[in-house]
Amino acid sequence: MEMKNTLLSLLLLTGSTLTSYAQKTDWSKKNWSKPEATEFWDVKPPIVTPAQKPGDAPSDAMVLFNGTTMNQWVMSKDGSPANWNLKDGAMTVKLNTGDIQTKEQFGSCQLHVEFKIPADSKNSADPHNAGNSGVFLQERYEVQIFDSYQDEVPLYSNGQCGSLYKQAIPLANACSQPGEWNTYDIFYTEPSFHPNGAVNVPAYVTVVHNGILVLNHFQIQGPIAYIGVPKYEPHGKASLKLQGHGSEVSFRNIWIRPL
Ligand code: MG
Repeated sequence: MEMKNTLLSLLLLTGSTLTSYAQKTDWSKKNWSKPEATEFWDVKPPIVTPAQKPGDAPSDAMVLFNGTTMNQWVMSKDGSPANWNLKDGAMTVKLNTGDIQTKEQFGSCQLHVEFKIPADSKNSADPHNAGNSGVFLQERYEVQIFDSYQDEVPLYSNGQCGSLYKQAIPLANACSQPGEWNTYDIFYTEPSFHPNGAVNVPAYVTVVHNGILVLNHFQIQGPIAYIGVPKYEPHGKASLKLQGHGSEVSFRNIWIRPL
């Protein structure tokens, strides 16, 4: 009985296809002394063809930026077409224009983003924002981008590159040199809310920066707050946002797998 309950809860936790499998299975007919009782044969995960080159989009990913067009992106401030600079297969923050975001809205996902801090970021007009940008999950939860290479630019640790901004210090400083590309592989679980608006399950994020784990299933405390304590507010699916914040950070090869 205990085995049955364990298996049942495992199935219920692992997704809707498996949930229906769990509901259809006649558990009373299982012979728990046999190995077959704990083997799943009736459902299979979808077959996904990996990319030929690691970091490129697998067969089921939605490509959000492939270097040729920004037509899946709009300016966050007014929804007009994204007008960052598109050149050499990358899109680059245009100063004083603000953030861009996807037209499409997402929840839980696997996300791949490549970014480059300008080589001369320390000499920029706004040195306090050297390399500042960010990947905003669901428009609210910021995985920070900053020129934290070798800690040459002073900044609080929970605001450096790879942090969940003002919430979590990255487990390592994995930054490439400014002028060279970085990768973020982000694994994100959206929060859920009770009907009264209170958090049911908070959001979680895991981030791999240049192949190095920097955030490990971190429990997000709420939307980014520059001042004060973060506080959750209920929301549904939302856009992926990239921050324009005083530094000409570039992006390429962005793809997402909704989960
Ligand atoms: Mg930022």
